[in-house]
Amino acid sequence: MLSFKHPGRHCIAGSWHPGTGEILSRNPANLDEIIGAFPVGTQAESIEAVAAARHAFPNWRRTSRLHRAECFNRLANIIERDQEYLAELMAREVGKTLSECRAEVVEGLHMVQYVFGTGRMPTGYVIDSEISEKDAFLRRKPWGVVAVITPWNFPFAVPLWMLGPSLLEGNTAVFKPSEDSPAIGQRLFELFLEAGFPPGTINLLHGDGTTGEALVDNPEVSVVLFTGSYEVGKRIQQVSANHFDRIVAAEMGSKSAVIICDDARIDLAVSAGLISAFKTSGQRCVSAGRLLVQEKIFDKFAEKLLTVTKRIRIGNPLDERNFTGPVIHENSVEKVLKYNRLSKEEGAEVLLVGERMLDHEHKRGCYLTPHVYRIAHSPQIRCIREEVFGPHLALIPFKTLDDAIEIYNDTDFGLSMAVITEDFRKMRLFREECNFGMGYVNLPCIGAEVHLPFGGVKKSGNGHPSAAGLVDAVTHKIAWTVNHG
Ligand code: NAP
Repeated sequence: MLSFKHPGRHCIAGSWHPGTGEILSRNPANLDEIIGAFPVGTQAESIEAVAAARHAFPNWRRTSRLHRAECFNRLANIIERDQEYLAELMAREVGKTLSECRAEVVEGLHMVQYVFGTGRMPTGYVIDSEISEKDAFLRRKPWGVVAVITPWNFPFAVPLWMLGPSLLEGNTAVFKPSEDSPAIGQRLFELFLEAGFPPGTINLLHGDGTTGEALVDNPEVSVVLFTGSYEVGKRIQQVSANHFDRIVAAEMGSKSAVIICDDARIDLAVSAGLISAFKTSGQRCVSAGRLLVQEKIFDKFAEKLLTVTKRIRIGNPLDERNFTGPVIHENSVEKVLKYNRLSKEEGAEVLLVGERMLDHEHKRGCYLTPHVYRIAHSPQIRCIREEVFGPHLALIPFKTLDDAIEIYNDTDFGLSMAVITEDFRKMRLFREECNFGMGYVNLPCIGAEVHLPFGGVKKSGNGHPSAAGLVDAVTHKIAWTVNHG
């Protein structure tokens, strides 16, 4: 049922290239199912792709902004037409449940519609000059070629969050999807071509980290828009340091948390905790690896959370009864199991042992059960500080609100948090004192809306939040002063 218009290929200046090397994309729910084979972009191909984008830039920049926006209108219609196919392809390739994949396609669609609408918004303003006959204008200009390097866990929405503002503002792009989601990346790219984006305006380069690094090290790339892990983000910053006027926007990982105060509605807290920790098998950038629970209600909360956690259905992402699917690949299974063991070595009281599921239904996939443990906070403990990216959850008791703030802030990350309380003063205190980019009250700490800034602080992001905020990364402001005298 799933078919591609083209076999796995790069597309440079509108021409499809078979390339060399082979990345096999497998269904993490059934490793025997191969979704497709894709090439690994070489340095020469990355140079070619960037040159194509550079060549297309002057014409694209000269087209009217409304014309560029209109391409996004067509893209939105195509995405709407193909929604179900895209969701199924995504579910098969990355193992997220069908309902999550449908939601992601809709999020991507919202982004494209937002970009279309933005096309008619003002792009600058008039500033009065010190001299009466003069007017000064502030206007935005595109930088040039944008490299868009994206993760596997939001393989449709994240590229659109980055490609949307970049292309609307007149930049051209080279898109490198993750080697774990090349099929959905290529399908998305094909939709751009169908929507009428001119050849070279957007180019597709498959590959692994070496391909990504070759792109980043190209001096013709003006902007790198990256979403992924901190380690890769840091490497991209280091390589980009050789390119003086380079802009790098990096959205990275987290150790998000939900803070549950003793006045919380317990059922709401349990539901927020469960969704924050285990939706997408804990593989969202904003997934909560920590639930901070006030001592007075700790036991009651833990008991209820464990009861519902034991009941969650884990299985085939296409079966709509399942709450979560597998993790992305074998390496991820190994990594999560390593952190599960580490929690015990670091002194945790393990309440639910996370294991690989090897029964008949699950044994061909990368399935894990949730790992839940109680642990007292201490700065030395790695499993409550480092991003695990899987169904791995620490329950951490706290006494006072100041303790909760200290514990929440005691990681290198600062992406999202939620507080569960009925008390306005507590909400306000956490909002002001915790270091994060997205905060939620009486909600899970996951979720995004395209018109709201999405990005973090510390090792979670470098200050160019996605969507609305990205326009500052993909354009530079100019002052234009006119003498009317
Ligand atoms: P990743 O391993 O960091 O990879 C991200 C992208 O970078 C991939 O396309 C990857 O290519 C590429 N890459 C790898 N090494 C590179 C290098 N040296 N130079 C340039 N590019 C390179 O992340 P992932 O496993 O795909 O995604 C999970 C991570 O993303 C988690 O840490 C998660 O928290 C984070 N994330 C953050 C947000 C956010 O908005 N803050 C959103 C989603 C995900 P290959 O895959 O081909 O190696």
